[in-house]
Amino acid sequence: MKIDLQNQRILLTGATRGIGEAIAALLLNAGASVGLHYRSSEAKAQSIAAAAPDQCSIHQADLGDPGAAADLVKAFCERWGGIDCLINNAGIAISQNPNPADHDWHQTWLTTLQVNLKAVAEATETAIPFFREAGGGRVIHIASRAAFRGDTPKYAAYAASKGGMVAYSRTVARGYGKEGIKSFVVAPGFTRTDMANQFIEEYGEEFVKDDLSLSTITEPADIAPTVFFLASGMMDHATGCTIDINAGSYLR
Ligand code: NAP
Repeated sequence: MKIDLQNQRILLTGATRGIGEAIAALLLNAGASVGLHYRSSEAKAQSIAAAAPDQCSIHQADLGDPGAAADLVKAFCERWGGIDCLINNAGIAISQNPNPADHDWHQTWLTTLQVNLKAVAEATETAIPFFREAGGGRVIHIASRAAFRGDTPKYAAYAASKGGMVAYSRTVARGYGKEGIKSFVVAPGFTRTDMANQFIEEYGEEFVKDDLSLSTITEPADIAPTVFFLASGMMDHATGCTIDINAGSYLR
């Protein structure tokens, strides 16, 4: 089966590294028009776009800034005349001591919730009128195993933000389904990216591998095909669902 996404206008946040970069490659290969969003990796965004310049727009936004996600969606819609799919992939995982007396504790919680959750809602709710105009649309949220299993205490804010993302996705699926708007969650387990390297440095690779049913750590290329398939529309009747991709490390 060949999946053609030539009529799809897809905004992908965090397109420059890790899971986002792997998703971008599949979308572009299938002919989609893709908004490559980044925060700081401008050169990387340009090099991805260079392979398919007619299919790409490049957008900078720090999702830690309230209002930035809305501006991002509007800029994308202005460029392509609307939007068919929003992939909320950009995210942060900050390690901190679980101690509210620590200087950074409050700010880390706020920043994590802002980038991983509030910006997601801001982008999605800005996209909804454009989806309506197009007769429907899709939102794909990259959450985490941590939303369901929890994480280590140092990543409590991360786990909580991803749990919120799952509840938010289900709310979108329930609230807007009759208008043709679908919402999905992909929940990766540990995946070998810059974000994961930070965790490996902290806890060691064996700690990660001990958790898995499979013998190798998940790669971004193991996550991207599921996101691609959701974006194709062939999974629309699974709206509201979560798909776990975690090498059998958490079965529920
Ligand atoms: P990554 O390699 O660290 O890449 C993060 C991406 O998000 C980059 O493109 C980065 O842009 C962007 N980003 C980070 N902070 C941002 C901000 N403040 N504003 C805007 N963009 C920002 O991460 P990844 O591992 O691919 O993770 C992608 C998604 O999968 C995240 O939502 C993450 O929580 C989720 N996930 C990852 C794992 C894992 O083990 N890796 C497991 C479960 C879930 P720049 O490159 O421009 O900085």
